Amino acid sequence: MFDLTKKTAIVTGAKQGIGYGIALALAKSGADVVVSDSDAAGARKAADAIAKSTKRKTLAAGADVSKKPDVDALLRAAVEKFGKVDILVNDAGIYPFKPLLDMTEGDWQKVIEVNLTGTFLTNQAAARQMIRQKGGGRIITVSSIASLIGYANLAHYCASKGGVNAFVRSAAVELAPHGITVNAIAPGAIQTPGIGALDEKALAGLLTAVPLKRIGQPEDIAAAAVFLASDEAGYVTGQTLVVDGGWTSQ
Ligand code: NAD
Repeated sequence: MFDLTKKTAIVTGAKQGIGYGIALALAKSGADVVVSDSDAAGARKAADAIAKSTKRKTLAAGADVSKKPDVDALLRAAVEKFGKVDILVNDAGIYPFKPLLDMTEGDWQKVIEVNLTGTFLTNQAAARQMIRQKGGGRIITVSSIASLIGYANLAHYCASKGGVNAFVRSAAVELAPHGITVNAIAPGAIQTPGIGALDEKALAGLLTAVPLKRIGQPEDIAAAAVFLASDEAGYVTGQTLVVDGGWTSQ
């Protein structure tokens, strides 16, 4: 078990799904956690549940990662409450299915703004704070295996997550002198509210693609996030860690 005691973490998109799983796992590992989401009421509920079950301190913060004033306010709120930020996990992301030939400029821009611009804004704001603290840090963004292979009806999403991986490599090089590591996690199919309930046929189809023969759970991604957030991962940077039950190994 990696020990995150005395660390402060921010997790975006943490009301539910993978983000909630990561926020909970970081708190279970000892971190105090800022539970952030564009749905402020959802963030509050999640923050309360995590504080209750882990006895760690949490702060709920409504913030849209694609809006710079929101992201700046999120960092200010975290520092005001906890005095510092050691770990950022930028999980917030959207994946609205749309055939390429029907995709509007607005559809494209929305996905790029949340998934890619949101990564830039949150990573930059966290890095600036970590550099002020002079103690290094850990920055993690949730990418996707859609950054590595193509999926029909997700051209905007695949492009945004490919951009995340490239951004992470570049930021890792630039922030290394400050002792800040920057990585991504690329989940395969993970059971979340965003994915929704899968009927038997959909699940069977999915499992033909997964050598480990099960759909992933938020805990599978959270375990990778806890590792990348730990002191022990201090020599890992610029990487996209694939957690997909073997999907992309074939
Ligand atoms: P989800 O829809 O269940 O949860 C996403 C959360 O992000 C929601 O709480 C939502 O309110 C929040 N959010 C959306 N837009 C936001 C914004 N602009 N600012 C702040 N918060 C925002 O999704 P999930 O399945 O848990 O996915 C989480 C992340 O994991 C996403 O980045 C997604 O691309 C990635 N991912 C998911 C899967 C999967 O199979 N579930 C696979 C690969 C990658």
